[in-house]
Amino acid sequence: MQLSSSLLENAVNEFAKLPGIGKKSALRLVLHLLKEEESDVKKFSDAIAKMRSEIKYCKKCFNISDADLCDICANISRKQKQICVVENIRDVIAIENTQQFNGVYHVLGGIISPLDGVGPEQLHIDELVQRVKNDEVEELIFALNPNIQGDTTIFYIQRKLQDLPCKITTIARGIAFGGELEYADEMTLGRSLTNRLPVENYVK
Ligand SMILES: [Zn+2]
Repeated sequence: MQLSSSLLENAVNEFAKLPGIGKKSALRLVLHLLKEEESDVKKFSDAIAKMRSEIKYCKKCFNISDADLCDICANISRKQKQICVVENIRDVIAIENTQQFNGVYHVLGGIISPLDGVGPEQLHIDELVQRVKNDEVEELIFALNPNIQGDTTIFYIQRKLQDLPCKITTIARGIAFGGELEYADEMTLGRSLTNRLPVENYVK
């Protein structure tokens, strides 16, 4: 794409790095911003820069947070001994939107995937094991994407916890195998949580 200004071209190139944004969409967004008031564009860019530099992760569950503890971990009306284990923050948002879960979360930060070079040591698995031990956690609910990597991760964590008196369950298979949790509709995801199964029933 040949543009008459290198400033414009730089901005378009930056927008085009975002997922799902091609060069044409990037140009449309940049031209829209050019029409806006300079103060509004500054507010826009400041919000992004501030988010990136100041955002924190909850020390307990690794959810995104403004404070050391996220709102969910700090909420005493939620069941602190029931932990839903998820791959990433988008999954927390998806489950919160179902309004069917009143426990807390643990964000692994990924999933065990040897082909992609992701091993257990790169994820927040040790922290989860410590949490289960220290907080006398009563139930872990795995809400991972239903695929081979998800099953491998569940199996690995289950083995690390097998001597502890913690019930381990997974959300039911309401979601298609190979599908992705974040794209499931709220009813399917909510029902999957309600009908969760003991992990030994399906991880073999
Ligand atoms: Zn938290």
